[in-house]
Amino acid sequence: MREIKHWLNGAAVAGTSGRQLPVWDPATGEQQAYVVAATAAETAQAVTVAKAAFPAWRAASLSRRSEVMFRFRELVDANRKEIASLVSQEHGKTVADAGGELARGLENIEFAAGAPHLLKGGYSEQASTGVDVYSIRQPLGVVAGITPFNFPAMVPMWMFCNALVCGNTFVLKPSEKDPSVALLLADLLRQAGLPDGAFNVVQGDREAVETLIAHPDVQALSFVGSTPVAKAIYEQGSRAGKRVQALGGAKNHMVVLPDADVDAAADAAVSAGYGSAGERCMAVSVVVAVGAVGDPLVAAIKERIGRIAVGPASDPAAEMGPLISREHRDKVAGYLAGAGPAEVVVDGRQAPISDGPGFFLGASLVDKVPTDSPLYTDEIFGPVLSVVRADTYEEALELVNTNEYGNGTAIFTRDGGAARRFQYDVNCGMVGVNVPVPVPVAYYSFGGWKSSLFGDLHMYGPEGLQFYTRSKVVTSRWPDPATSTVDLGFPEVR
Ligand code: NAD
Repeated sequence: MREIKHWLNGAAVAGTSGRQLPVWDPATGEQQAYVVAATAAETAQAVTVAKAAFPAWRAASLSRRSEVMFRFRELVDANRKEIASLVSQEHGKTVADAGGELARGLENIEFAAGAPHLLKGGYSEQASTGVDVYSIRQPLGVVAGITPFNFPAMVPMWMFCNALVCGNTFVLKPSEKDPSVALLLADLLRQAGLPDGAFNVVQGDREAVETLIAHPDVQALSFVGSTPVAKAIYEQGSRAGKRVQALGGAKNHMVVLPDADVDAAADAAVSAGYGSAGERCMAVSVVVAVGAVGDPLVAAIKERIGRIAVGPASDPAAEMGPLISREHRDKVAGYLAGAGPAEVVVDGRQAPISDGPGFFLGASLVDKVPTDSPLYTDEIFGPVLSVVRADTYEEALELVNTNEYGNGTAIFTRDGGAARRFQYDVNCGMVGVNVPVPVPVAYYSFGGWKSSLFGDLHMYGPEGLQFYTRSKVVTSRWPDPATSTVDLGFPEVR
């Protein structure tokens, strides 16, 4: 069986621990490869390599770093098909969906290529007599990224493109469930001219992550994954004196007001609820139907579910693939078994493909979900859409605002005033107005509120550049020796 290796100092390196973690083919249910989980010593070795590469990479001119990003963009673009099919092979999402992920990743490379424009400091001439003050932004050193299974190409790109262009060196710990893409991207970075050692990949799990958190030479941690792990990493990393941004899980509500176009809202709910089998942190998992729109909306969603083609990525007609693992598939199916008083309108367990092989579960719709049901309170991360009924806009808003998570949300309405009020009132980091998956473009930044993000700075975009640099302020005087005197007073500027 194939080993998916680490990437150290510009080359793939086999693991030594003997602790194999399986990589499944979610479409067949069979194991297709494995990673050998990195030991603490192997992980520390990656940090050492990155530390050694830092001075030279930091010293590379901004134009040179930007040029590497330009070349990397061209290489990723030229290898789109190969990258997308690798994503599909290990994650299970359709090739078209993997292509969409890649397109959003490319945006992040393009943003990073233009980063020098945003890395300019400020300059104040004559802040005091003959004194100028200016600020510069400098890289942090070795930074690490820990990424989830659901976007094995895009989420690492959210992190390393900006980190590298700022002059940092990087250690990536990708998800052990779909780890190959990280190696392919590492090789493309090498081909783009990134010096060896500036980007490294350690395969593994908790042991590798804990080593990165504790390692004194890791200056910052970027994490994307589930909320309990995000919170733990934020707490441990901060305690260890590191800069941390840790993005967690979500329960994204789509509020549909009575005046909304029912067909457009149903199209959006189905696309955002079942795309990528619901395994997106920006997936819609709750539709809040306000007033009389409830019955026609549920009927319209049900009708569309019947037309979703579920199948393996190898089938070009497939629109929705399997879940990531058998364990996860069974957990998601368990929410349907435990639906209690809620009305299961479409039960995906009854779809023939749910019998296997592979980790498939048909799209499911549950109506009139009580807000104390696990269907509502848990992040399910699968193709199960819950509908909660609300009588008023205020009731719907209250649901979104009191929910534990605050990643994304969307409102569907034809009333601009109501949409503006929602945008003003809602406690979420990313808001869609008649847009169900409002993932910000790369020149804004991505991040939720509440238990969807621990830390201060959102990921990628301008906040990403801020995260991967620190500012230094220089106060400078080039005096005329004739005017130099001793003055023991505190420096004043007037
Ligand atoms: P996960 O938390 O299980 O794993 C994420 C990463 O952390 C992986 O690399 C994994 O190896 C590592 N990890 C897991 N347990 C760990 C532990 N105890 N200690 C240290 N490291 C650990 O998440 P996942 O299942 O890979 O991804 C799905 C989750 O990610 C969902 O909750 C989803 O909402 C979230 N997600 C959030 C965003 C966002 O931007 N907010 C984006 C994508 C995914």
